Amino acid sequence: ASPAKKRFNIALLPGDGIGPEVISVAKNVLQQAGSLEGLEFNFQEMPVGGAALDLVGVPMPEESFSVAKNSDAILLGAIGGYKWDKNEKHLRPEMALYYLRRDLKVFANLRPATVLPQLVDASSLKREIAEGVDMMIVRELTGGIYFGEPRGIKINENGEEVGISTEIYAAHEIDRIARVAFETARKRRGKLCSIDKANVLDASMLWRKRVTALASEYPDVELSHMYVDNAAMQLIRDPKQFDTIVTNNIFGDILSDEASMITGSIGMLPSASLGESGPGLFEPIHGSAPDIAGQDKANPLATILSAAMLLKYGLGEEEAAKRIEDAVLDALNKGFRTGDIYSPGNKLVGCKEMGEEVLKSVDSKV
Ligand code: ATP
Ligand code: MG
Repeated sequence: ASPAKKRFNIALLPGDGIGPEVISVAKNVLQQAGSLEGLEFNFQEMPVGGAALDLVGVPMPEESFSVAKNSDAILLGAIGGYKWDKNEKHLRPEMALYYLRRDLKVFANLRPATVLPQLVDASSLKREIAEGVDMMIVRELTGGIYFGEPRGIKINENGEEVGISTEIYAAHEIDRIARVAFETARKRRGKLCSIDKANVLDASMLWRKRVTALASEYPDVELSHMYVDNAAMQLIRDPKQFDTIVTNNIFGDILSDEASMITGSIGMLPSASLGESGPGLFEPIHGSAPDIAGQDKANPLATILSAAMLLKYGLGEEEAAKRIEDAVLDALNKGFRTGDIYSPGNKLVGCKEMGEEVLKSVDSKV
């Protein structure tokens, strides 16, 4: 008899635009890689974002949230589109993401920025600078200047309007994101760079103090610190120097977008958002790409690689994750390319065909 299978509930939130196309492809790959490793998935697909607005009038229906919250991991496509652009704030599709992140309490956002050898010429950097770039940005996601009080546009004592944002970080918030980063660095090349503005900002001064204090618990990780303005330069000048980066919410927002652009392939980059307990949220970094939606042109690899992160960081199933990562490389090695990463000499394929090629590679590595 075959050994008992491990079962997991996976919430699929396809969302809008190219979301449903890339999720359907990634689901098949996830299913297949899992079954080869003795994992059984119960997929539950729920509407969020614009799709949910059209169906039931709210961007994050309670039932969708409840299925997501009670799952073992969540795979999300993309959210938003022109159609709902004029909606008032609480009825915008993007609010679904805001509610999900807030209510799942996912404080750690992991975003790799990797230049694959197969795609080195797609990078926005010169080949000699781009070759071998492989970093992971760990961004604090639920605290900092986006949430601190007081905030808002108020009237001061002179009757003038003032815009107020406040950066607050409690020691425990810094410690928990730093721990995720140390653990991540440990599984990678053992180098962690903490990025702050500790020469000017008080929240950054505490950040640096706490991260430094934790370093003794991770003697196998080499910790360094960098000011954010310098980091923004170094990412362009010599991105290879970085392995794992940890930073606050706003710096991470900016630096992770910068890092993704140097790789030059928005259609290739996955992400993970993790909490202390409960399911993690896994999604490609790209948006709903309404300009190519419904045309079978989307690159599904960012979502397929998000499924690999789901296995690795969400379920702890590193073998199954590796199967997917290897299959993606295999499909690229065979020359299959969607339009966004196409270069002459390769084979132009659509979203579905790219998915089928990855699936074949998953199978051939039995
Ligand atoms: P959002 O605000 O949701 O992040 P955006 O407008 O900033 O959306 P995207 O929706 O990611 O950005 O699209 C930016 C560009 O990249 C578009 O031209 C889109 O077609 C392209 N693009 C995004 N994702 C993919 C993908 N998976 N495959 C191919 N092209 C993509
Ligand atoms: Mg965007």
